[in-house]
Amino acid sequence: MKIGFIGLGNMGAPMASNLAKAGHQVTGFDTAAPEPEGVSPATSAAEAARDADVVITMLPNGQILRAVADQVIPAMRAGAILCDCSTVDVDSARAVAEAAIAAELGALDAPVSGGIGGAQAGTLTFMVGGRSKDFATVEPLFEIMGQKAVHCGESGAGQAAKICNNMILGVTMIATCEAFAMADKLGLDRQKMFDVVSTSSGYSWTMNAYCPAPGIGPQSPADNDYRPGFAAELMLKDLNLAQQAAGSAGADTPMGSLARNLYEEFVEREDGRGRDFSAMLPRFVQRNG
Ligand code: NAD
Repeated sequence: MKIGFIGLGNMGAPMASNLAKAGHQVTGFDTAAPEPEGVSPATSAAEAARDADVVITMLPNGQILRAVADQVIPAMRAGAILCDCSTVDVDSARAVAEAAIAAELGALDAPVSGGIGGAQAGTLTFMVGGRSKDFATVEPLFEIMGQKAVHCGESGAGQAAKICNNMILGVTMIATCEAFAMADKLGLDRQKMFDVVSTSSGYSWTMNAYCPAPGIGPQSPADNDYRPGFAAELMLKDLNLAQQAAGSAGADTPMGSLARNLYEEFVEREDGRGRDFSAMLPRFVQRNG
């Protein structure tokens, strides 16, 4: 396939590179980052999109996605598919899909889970919203960039799945960290706490697979001085998107709201910026004195 790839940052570059390695003809554009090996350069987003069968975007936020979509949709050939893999608000995802479909294009919102490691290894999970026929066309590309793609429903359903997942993740990480810090205060050994909780009803991905306590459980950013991994500010971004979606859908999300406020405090007013989101544990320890 001919692929236009727009946004060649930490995630986009390895994803585009994996598509090129698999034999697809990839033309890339980014306002700042260089093209990775195997990807031909374009001088604008519209140029990267012009002859493509599929245009993939991997951009910072919904506002930038809307601006890029305004440039690429008129340049794309009829029947081509615009597939956005960024994490953006549900409203932007739906607006971009509507504009693409009105221009006789296909459209998918296909945010990912798995981080930079998953992008490099080609083991991302894609959660996808849009028409079944568009999903079927792009599915072979998801299989190259990832290990699983779930068709979640109509346009916006991929972004909805992503922010619901990450709201659970943010809430659970905070719960795991505050429990470890409380265990310290109660004189409970952290390893014993892990041995019990990881095999009891309090178990979770944050405890079992990404333990925020250094030296305990499998390797995680806690073992690397809390270097990200998944940065606290990206968690804050996703929790803000979840609250925006909850507001516009009229959903009651008290825990998601509290998690958002705690990550905001951590990133904006404490030392969370640039640290992994599991650095909530030393934060609670410090506050407990
Ligand atoms: P990044 O900042 O490294 O990459 C974004 C790229 O977009 C940059 O290279 C930037 O120059 C480029 N860009 C900005 N405006 C542009 C424009 N108008 N035209 C063309 N290029 C433009 O970010 P990232 O870590 O690659 O994340 C990309 C998306 O993936 C975000 O929405 C993020 O939330 C999501 N995501 C990231 C991770 C992660 O672990 N990094 C995990 C899952 C999802």
